Amino acid sequence: SAKRLGGNQSLRFRPALDKQDNPQLALVSDLRSALVSGDQLELHYQTQHHPKSKELVGMEALLRWRHPRDGMISPGDFIPLAERHGLMAQLGTWVIEKACAQQAHWMNSGMPKVTIWINISALQLFQGDLEAQLAGCLKRFGLKASQIGLELTESVLLDERAGDMSPRLEALHTQGHPIAIDDFGTGYSSLAYLKRLTVDKVKLDRAFIRALPDDRADAAIVTAVLAMAKGMGLEVIAEGVETEEQRKFLIDAGCTMIQGFLFARPLPPEELEKRWLPVDTSLREPEEALQQPS
Ligand code: C2E
Ligand code: MG
Ligand code: MG
Ligand code: MG
Repeated sequence: SAKRLGGNQSLRFRPALDKQDNPQLALVSDLRSALVSGDQLELHYQTQHHPKSKELVGMEALLRWRHPRDGMISPGDFIPLAERHGLMAQLGTWVIEKACAQQAHWMNSGMPKVTIWINISALQLFQGDLEAQLAGCLKRFGLKASQIGLELTESVLLDERAGDMSPRLEALHTQGHPIAIDDFGTGYSSLAYLKRLTVDKVKLDRAFIRALPDDRADAAIVTAVLAMAKGMGLEVIAEGVETEEQRKFLIDAGCTMIQGFLFARPLPPEELEKRWLPVDTSLREPEEALQQPS
């Protein structure tokens, strides 16, 4: 029997790994069902602000999975899993549809009209026909491309497997989507790519914000990035701003957009509506008016 062989060899005699044996595979299979039913997935939105006037300048859509048994699972945990098991395209499509539906709803609801930024995974850019997919979605929901911004991480754009991503980026930009580099400064940073790629905005990673204003090196990096971006005509948004001191530093350094727990955590759409819709609720549309993807 398998047992007599001992050691790792016994593994060969076991049936193929199934859900009971491997919690990761169980999670993948749960994610597959979640994508079919759709009702465990949510997009939450984190507001972006002018640091001084506090004016709302944008929102980032962040994916949430409310697992029926395990509770909220962080995207940092399930997105890599989706990528490894071929579910990223479907997940990415769900995000695009949902964000467009939400934007269309908000454009007609008295909410402040700002760009919604969505995170795009490397695989969506390498494999899918993202341009056509986005164009189709915009058309169905009656949106302009400027109303849906795209966030891509540095590592996506510099991934060697991907080859030259600049034509893809160029196409998305030509279509009218604002483009941001996410987690700026944490990848294999090469400043040359900023010159070569069509980019509108860099999102300064919160690793550089965390220790402001005391850490001299971080203060110098943030100041330098802001100066460089200004010279290149790029916008900069600081991520992960949590304290008044950080906000003050960023105002003085000339940063014009910030995002972080200081202003708001990512919130479900209903919470944002409570906060941002005019008190006169007669302006609100009934829930049924929310267009569903066909
Ligand atoms: P990201 O795009 O850099 O998003 C920012 C992350 O920082 C979010 O974590 C947000 O909740 C968190 N954050 C915002 N403000 C603060 C702050 O002041 N302090 C701290 N400590 N954290 C803050 P979240 O929602 O867990 O998302 C993690 C990552 O998962 C995202 O990083 C993004 O890379 C990925 N992700 C999220 N949603 C999507 C999606 O729809 N598609 C793809 N492809 N990736 C997504
Ligand atoms: Mg992002
Ligand atoms: Mg980021
Ligand atoms: Mg990140």
